[in-house]
Amino acid sequence: MSVQTFRYEGLPGRVLFGRGVTAQLADVIGQVGGTRALLLSTAQQADQARTLAMHAGALIVGHFAEATMHTPVEVTARALAMLNDLDADCVVAIGGGSTIGLGKALALRTDVPQVAVATTYAGSEMTPILGETAGERKTTQRTLNVLPEAVIYDVDLTLDLPVAMTATSGLNAIAHAVEGLYARDTNPVIGLFAEEAVGAFAAALPRLIDTPRDPEARAEALRAAWLCGMVLATTSMSLHHKLCHTLGGAFNLPHAETHSVVLPHALAYNAPAAPAAMAALRRAFGGEDPVTALVALARRIGAPTALRDIGMPADGIDHAADEALRNPYWNPRAVERDGVRALIARAYAGDPPA
Ligand code: NAD
Repeated sequence: MSVQTFRYEGLPGRVLFGRGVTAQLADVIGQVGGTRALLLSTAQQADQARTLAMHAGALIVGHFAEATMHTPVEVTARALAMLNDLDADCVVAIGGGSTIGLGKALALRTDVPQVAVATTYAGSEMTPILGETAGERKTTQRTLNVLPEAVIYDVDLTLDLPVAMTATSGLNAIAHAVEGLYARDTNPVIGLFAEEAVGAFAAALPRLIDTPRDPEARAEALRAAWLCGMVLATTSMSLHHKLCHTLGGAFNLPHAETHSVVLPHALAYNAPAAPAAMAALRRAFGGEDPVTALVALARRIGAPTALRDIGMPADGIDHAADEALRNPYWNPRAVERDGVRALIARAYAGDPPA
């Protein structure tokens, strides 16, 4: 076997993981140098965020509870005005990728340190990636300026994550691990994180569908989400993500559900060109074929398995195939129109991946 040459880049950051660890919020704010923190949340999580913020007492000087999906720049502008008015020197984002995205957008503009308290499995808290929208236009950038300085993974905050979101958020995270395994810039360290994460999610997600408040399964899923976030942070995504962005953009399909449907199809397409990734995934799924195991997992946890069930129009298949071939991302297997069209047609109908 030849010796592989690779680069590995560790990112700075600190993590506090456990049950009830948000009680240490004041210490964590202090560790990042904050003395006046602006609390961020969505409207839906406003009460939860407010209650948790009591742990930081007077260190929290205000609460902006309007975080929204896709980080619209006008929402960021309102939060920025509040940050400045309050003379805040730090942000505490409690929530999923949308709230954490707002914290990142503020850090990009002001360099304030961020404490991210993650309550979904999206993984944004581990990445130097920020996606923002201005009107219809979405831009994504990678810069260390947006990487949160401290992350709190409090298992207790995930106990009430709705079951449907548990499933799709988990599969969304698995998609990062899968594409990280065959990424152009993958490496053996990232491979360990990805394989471990897929195995942990495969075990935890079905348990969470049956008993959503099981703290041990929640801890396993959250630990796996952390690992998937680390994979996303340092590798480039391929065909699966290109397809999801294309389909989501063209037909306004729901983000996480689109990932759930497309992933086994994208993996089946790439399998012949990604033997090492397939071997790692087979180990993660206890020896099962990874494509079959992914479909079975999605079914078992009630995630959608057909694009037509989540709003894609039948006459959109050709358009999606054309778009997917426009500026394609690097992919382990050549991206060819016939193959990609067939992939999308199968994903549309919910047929078995091939
Ligand atoms: P989200 O943050 O949009 O949350 C969805 C809803 O669920 C919100 O109303 C939220 O308040 C609620 N919620 C979150 N956690 C909850 C909990 N524990 N209990 C009850 N309700 C809860 O969803 P998401 O999937 O975490 O994030 C999606 C966004 O994050 C997308 O915009 C995506 O592009 C972005 N994202 C970015 C990165 C990155 O690295 N930049 C990575 C992954 C996702």
